[in-house]
Amino acid sequence: MFLREITFPVNRLKGAGPSAQRILGDAGINSVASLLTRYPRDWEDRRCTILLKDWNKGPVCTVVKVLSHEWFGFGRMKTLKVHVEDESARAMLVCFNRPFLQKQLPVGEQIRIWGKFYYKYGELQATAFEIENPGIQKDFMNPVYPLSKELTHNLLRRLIQQALDQFGSNLEDEIPQSIMVREKLLPKKEALRAVHFPESMEILEQARNTLIFEELFYLEIMVGRRALERKKEDSLNKGTEGYPSSSPGFSPLQINLIERLPFSLTPGQEKAIGEINADMSGPWPLARLLQGDVGSGKTLVAFLAALRAVDEGGQAAIMAPTELLARQHANNAARLLEPLGIRPAYLTGNLKSTGRSRLLENLAAGEVDIVLGTHALFSKDVIYRNLSLVIIDEQHRFGVTQRQAIVAKGQSSLQQKNIPDLLMMSATPIPRTLALTVFGDLDISVISDMPPGRKPVKTHLAKESNAEKVYDFVQKELEAGRQAYFVFPLIGENETSGSILKDAVSMAEKLAKEIYPQYSTALIHSKLDDEEKRKTMEAFRAGEIRILAATSVVEVGVDVPNASCMVIHHAERFGLSALHQLRGRVGRGRDQAYCFLIYSDQDILPGINPLNLSEEERSREGRRLMVMLENRDGFIIAEKDLLFRGPGQIAGIEQSGYLKLGIADPVRDTDALIRARTEAFGILEKDPCFLLSEHRCIAEVLERSPPFAEVGL
Ligand code: ADP
Ligand code: MG
Repeated sequence: MFLREITFPVNRLKGAGPSAQRILGDAGINSVASLLTRYPRDWEDRRCTILLKDWNKGPVCTVVKVLSHEWFGFGRMKTLKVHVEDESARAMLVCFNRPFLQKQLPVGEQIRIWGKFYYKYGELQATAFEIENPGIQKDFMNPVYPLSKELTHNLLRRLIQQALDQFGSNLEDEIPQSIMVREKLLPKKEALRAVHFPESMEILEQARNTLIFEELFYLEIMVGRRALERKKEDSLNKGTEGYPSSSPGFSPLQINLIERLPFSLTPGQEKAIGEINADMSGPWPLARLLQGDVGSGKTLVAFLAALRAVDEGGQAAIMAPTELLARQHANNAARLLEPLGIRPAYLTGNLKSTGRSRLLENLAAGEVDIVLGTHALFSKDVIYRNLSLVIIDEQHRFGVTQRQAIVAKGQSSLQQKNIPDLLMMSATPIPRTLALTVFGDLDISVISDMPPGRKPVKTHLAKESNAEKVYDFVQKELEAGRQAYFVFPLIGENETSGSILKDAVSMAEKLAKEIYPQYSTALIHSKLDDEEKRKTMEAFRAGEIRILAATSVVEVGVDVPNASCMVIHHAERFGLSALHQLRGRVGRGRDQAYCFLIYSDQDILPGINPLNLSEEERSREGRRLMVMLENRDGFIIAEKDLLFRGPGQIAGIEQSGYLKLGIADPVRDTDALIRARTEAFGILEKDPCFLLSEHRCIAEVLERSPPFAEVGL
C-alpha cells in the first residue's frame, strides 16, 4: 500500500489509547500516515561518547558517577544540584523544577547523561539534560520532533516506532522506478524508517534526500498539472465549463474607460491587457502574474480586467496589502469607474458593523460590481454573488496554497460555482524559487515600459551633515508648488532609546516648526488609526499638505503625481528594493523629480565617492547605495539586492511560511526542486493523468500548509 493510503486513525496502533489519540489529534495528527510524516526536525547521535571535557564540541554524551547532592534556594524555589564526574572532568547538573531527580540520581550511581554543558561561575554545568540507564545500547540516532503542548518525545517515538512496525514493511513506492534510479532514491519504506530512526549519517542523508525529492515532486506535479490543464487547447470545453468564451478583444466597458482616459495605454499595458483578455475569453480560468516596475501603470490594467469581469456578469475583488493602498485603489475606482456606471465598494477590516453588514448584503445581492480592500475581502462572512475575478496587488507571499482559499471563495459564490480568474500584480521581480513553486503555475505578463513623458528620478547621495543643503533644495521645489516626502526608519524616538536615528515623529515636528514653517506638514506611519491616515493621505493628494513625514508605509503603491521630492533619512537602513519602491513614489508626473538618500556619516565609512576610491574601499552600505545611483530598473536592483543579502534571504520567504512542506525547503533545496520539476513536467507531458485520481498525496502536502488565517488572510 502507499503511505497516503494509511488513513486509519492512530488508535489502530497498538498502545495508542484514547488519550494518545486526543493528544495527537490536537497536534494535527489524525491518521497513521500523518503520524509517519511528522518528520524529526533534528537527530541526536547519542551513541558516541563526548566527554565532559569536550563540552564545547557538541552535546555531552557520557557515563558519569554521581558524587554528591546539594540544595540551594528556599521554599518552592529550592533547587537540587547534583555533582557528577566522568573520566575526564567534574560537572554539575542543575535540576530546576526536578527535585525528583534526587531519587533517580543516588550518590555513587553510574548514569548516562546527555545534554549541553556550559561554564558558569567557573563550573561546568547543565540545566537541560536527559538521563538514561548506562546499560542501554542504542542502534540508531535519536529523532527530535517538533512538539506541542502535551505531545512528548516519548509518545511520538513510541507510536512512530509502532506505526513502522505495523505498517512500514508493506509500504510501496509511488515514484516511477526510472526516476528513483536517476535520483538514487531509497525505497519508500526504508526512507521512512531511516528518517525517524537512522542507523548512520549516510542513510539519514539518503533518506532525507529521498523524502525531500518526493515532496517536491508531488508539489511540482500539482503545479504542473494546473499549468498544463489551463494551457490545453480544449475546444470542446469552450463555453461548456462555465467559462463562457467571448471575444478576446476589448469588452464594451473596457473601451468605454479607455476612451475616457486623458492618455492612451502604453504598449506594455496594451500587451498585458491583451493577454488577460485572451485568457479571460478562453476555456480555462485566468491565472496570471503581472509584473511591472513601480509606476508602470498596473492599476489601470487591473481596472480594465475588472471591467471585463463585470461585462461578463461577474464581480471582481481587488486586494491590496495595506489599508492605505486599498483606499487609494478605491478612490481611483470611484473616480475612473463610477462614471461608467460601475458600482465599486471599499471593504477593510476596520469597517464599522452597520456599514459592513450593509456592504456584505450588497455584495451577496450582486449590487456591488467591484470591491476593493485588504485581506478582509476574504473573511469568512464575506459572501459574493458571483466572484469571477480576484486581483491581488503587491503581495508576494500569496502562494499556491493561499490561492486555494480564493478558489473556494469563488466556488462558494451564490451563483457561480467556478474557480475565479486570478491576476496577481507585483513590482518586485519574483525570485527563481518562488517562480518555480508558489507561482510555478502562473502565466506571466510583463509591462516593460513606462508611461510617456516620465523623466528618470534624479538620485543623489548626501551625508547627514549635508542634510541642510538637501532641505534648501527641497525648499525650492516647494516654492515651485511641488510636494515632498521625508522618510525615516523609525516611527518615534522611544522605539530605541538612546538611538542616534532620526524618527518620523520628532522630525515631523522639526520640519513643521523649524525647517519649513511656511508650508503645511503632516505625519503618517503605521500606528496611526486608519481614519487619520486616510485624511492625511487625502489632504496630501489634494495638495493641502505639502510635506509628508513618514515611515516606509508610503513604500508600496502610493501615487501622488505632484510630489517631486523623496528624501530618505538613514537610507543605509533600508533594503534596496524598499529604496526603489520609495523612489518610485516620485516622478509620477511630468515634472523632474528628485530622490535624496541621506546616510549617517558614522554608519558609512568614507568612500561613497566613486571617483576617488576603488570598489573594495567603499563600504558595503556605500556600495549598496551606489546601486541606487547607477540603476533605475527595479528588476536589476532587486537582483543586486539579493546578491547583497545572500541566499536564504529571498523576499522574506523563509519567515513567510507560505508553503510549509513537511521536510523540503524550496529555498534550501532549490537544486532538488528544479530536478523534481523537470521530472514532474516530463511525466505529465507523457501522461497528463499521472496521479490524477490520487489527489490525496498532494492534498497531504497541502494539508500541512498553514491555513489561510495563519498567513494573515
Ligand atoms: P504601479 O504600476 O506602480 O502600480 P500606477 O498604476 O500607480 O503604477 O500608475 C502610476 C501613475 O501612472 C498613475 O498616476 C497613473 O494614473 C499613471 N498612468 C498609468 N497609465 C498611464 C498611461 N498609459 N499614460 C500616462 N499615465 C499613466
Ligand atoms: Mg501599484
